[in-house]
Amino acid sequence: MQMSDRSLRITEIFLSIQGESSHAGRPCSFVRLTGCPMRCAWCDSEYTFYGGERISFEDIFAKLGEFGCNLVEVTGGEPLAQVNVFPFISELCDRGFEVLIETGGFVSTKDVDPRAKVILDVKCPASGEAERNHWPNLERLRPEKDEVKFVVADLKDWEFAKEVIEKYDLIKRSKEILISPVHGVEKLAEIAEAVSRSGLKVRLNLQLHKYIWGADTRGV
Ligand code: SF4
Repeated sequence: MQMSDRSLRITEIFLSIQGESSHAGRPCSFVRLTGCPMRCAWCDSEYTFYGGERISFEDIFAKLGEFGCNLVEVTGGEPLAQVNVFPFISELCDRGFEVLIETGGFVSTKDVDPRAKVILDVKCPASGEAERNHWPNLERLRPEKDEVKFVVADLKDWEFAKEVIEKYDLIKRSKEILISPVHGVEKLAEIAEAVSRSGLKVRLNLQLHKYIWGADTRGV
């Protein structure tokens, strides 16, 4: 049962460089929550599925204070799967942090504090979890601050992404559309070429941190 106290189950808290999104390259603190009910085929954070440590809001804020970085990303796992995350996000905003929420897209974003910026995944077919996308989340995107991300494993995923972009008018609805090839995918150049030929206002999103520190290094 979820505890209603002021704490969260946390896998790791660390300072790094934001590796993705329109914020890529910026110094950023990360709060990575434990647990995710999804099982994406290419998931790169399976170590978050179990374990973790229950940490109070105060101790998390103290750690973030030590880092001294104004940009904070709340991620997972699936951060929105813990109900205590919603007041935690609000308190981060109250304290003046610029807050990014990276969510897998199957939990409703309706209770996320509107001051936070949402980076919303849409799961493509190769993930094996596309049936679980919570489509109303796309209608909540705000063009001045929210971003939508498609992790693509192949050209079929890219075709799926284009259909969703058109169906939900995502060019107008979101600040950025991120096309994020699975790290190490064989046909990266083919995907990049298809994106460039599309003429769509999208951004190829490579995970900067994996090029700097390697794909399996944690806490970066
Ligand atoms: S939603 Fe994210 S953390 Fe969960 S299985 Fe998919 S990629 Fe992994």
